[in-house]
Amino acid sequence: MEVFIIQSKTYLTGRVIFRGDPGYHEARQNWNPFSDSYPLVFVFAQNHLDVSNAIIWAQENKVPLRARSGRHALEREMSQVKDGIVIDVSDMNHVRLDRENGVAFVETGGTVGQIVKSLAQKGLMFPFGDSPSVGIGGITLGGGIGPLCRSIGLISDNLIGVKMVDAQGKLLIANEEENSDLLWASRGGGGGNFGIATEYEFNLHCAPAKATTFEIVWPWEQLEQVFDAWQNWAPFVDHRLGTSLEIGGKCNGLLHASGLFLGSKAELTNLLEPITSTGTPTEVNIQNLPWRVVVNNLLPADPIPDPSSSKFSSAWVEEIWPDRAIRSMRSFLEKATGTESNFYFLNWGGAVSEIPSDKTAFFWRKPKFYTEWSASWMDPSEARKNIALVTKTRENLDPFIKGSYVNVPDFNIKDFGPTYYGRNFDRLRKVKTKYDPSNVFNYPQSIPPFNHPR
Ligand SMILES: Cc1cc2nc3c(=O)[nH]c(=O)nc-3n(C[C@H](O)[C@H](O)[C@H](O)COP(=O)(O)OP(=O)(O)OC[C@H]3O[C@@H](n4cnc5c(N)ncnc54)[C@H](O)[C@@H]3O)c2cc1C
Repeated sequence: MEVFIIQSKTYLTGRVIFRGDPGYHEARQNWNPFSDSYPLVFVFAQNHLDVSNAIIWAQENKVPLRARSGRHALEREMSQVKDGIVIDVSDMNHVRLDRENGVAFVETGGTVGQIVKSLAQKGLMFPFGDSPSVGIGGITLGGGIGPLCRSIGLISDNLIGVKMVDAQGKLLIANEEENSDLLWASRGGGGGNFGIATEYEFNLHCAPAKATTFEIVWPWEQLEQVFDAWQNWAPFVDHRLGTSLEIGGKCNGLLHASGLFLGSKAELTNLLEPITSTGTPTEVNIQNLPWRVVVNNLLPADPIPDPSSSKFSSAWVEEIWPDRAIRSMRSFLEKATGTESNFYFLNWGGAVSEIPSDKTAFFWRKPKFYTEWSASWMDPSEARKNIALVTKTRENLDPFIKGSYVNVPDFNIKDFGPTYYGRNFDRLRKVKTKYDPSNVFNYPQSIPPFNHPR
């Protein structure tokens, strides 16, 4: 039996699960089995006081702490930590609408799917990515990218207020009037850096009555032709169209473009001509549907945990890829044998690019498109080979990529500060030094205060 000597004056409150307690195994399961760890205790906070007590308890007992919301961290030791305390806000998931002022107050434990779908029922539109089970807690702080970015910006571009519990256990409010530097940093500065967010205030948008979605599938062998057509079209197309291209590993054979257009089927059919006329599509599906149905179709239920482990890396692309870059992509896709391995691309531009790079902590506003690649495996003995493949591919692509997306981090990136945050890194360190000078909120690649080494 495990014995942990508690030296604390402070008690843990909320739903508390220690290692060995019933529910520990379920509490431990993150989306990516690669991020599995064995924390000492999980605190499922019910309110900000539970969060505050847990932060103080961790320091009194010299136990490392992590914040957690939707469990989708893509690297290790981010939202779980060996022998530490995980302060999980997922039981706090209430959404309150203030229609008069066009805002929503969203507790940070909700998932993107719950929020987007419940707002859609009320005729409202909120940005989202490709997975409903991603937590609003983590995705917002790093940016939040998806098919509506070109129309209404990142999730973090719609964030206008934050409630956050700091390292002293104090509840802070950050908005344009109060602690505005913390609001600036919370709009793209990454999760788990400054404190534990308990509530966000978001601007809302009226949803269109209907919108148009598309899907196109090609034989995998046509990937060079299709990718080249997509990259010469997607960044320059009408800003109301957000589109992604997914190319699975050779063993899985997927070559698939999809997208969301805030306009009619006839307009989209015209806009798609450069790619529907490329190669020999085996499926072209264009549908004009009510907004609620669009949202349900684009965010189908996805299970946690995923059966496979995956290693990701991400980057931005400023110049159209030449043949050499496309060859590196093909080589990765031929070698990655896990069925979930892929390259993913999302077009950039429009609303997200109109905001200056220093207006919020999210720096990468001007690229043509975003990319991420991931290698998956089932058998732990295959981890090393797949991680090495992802890293080698980053080296090969180095001349053709810029930076990386902090929500899809890669702990093998050495100079991580400028890579995630560009020229905003020093300003983020300043905010960190002000709100967490003792670096209580730290993990590999967290933002270091100025008095701590990078
Ligand atoms: C299947 C899948 C699909 C994805 N699709 C997209 C996408 O389409 N678009 C996109 O932008 N991203 C996407 N992501 C990446 C996603 O944005 C990040 O993984 C994000 O950090 C997940 O947040 P979470 O709350 O679910 O994760 P968690 O594992 O709970 O947390 C992730 C990070 O945020 C911190 N954090 C969580 N909650 C809080 C809080 N309340 N206060 C302070 N820090 C907190 C954690 O400490 C950790 O550092 C996807 C990830 C997965 C696994």
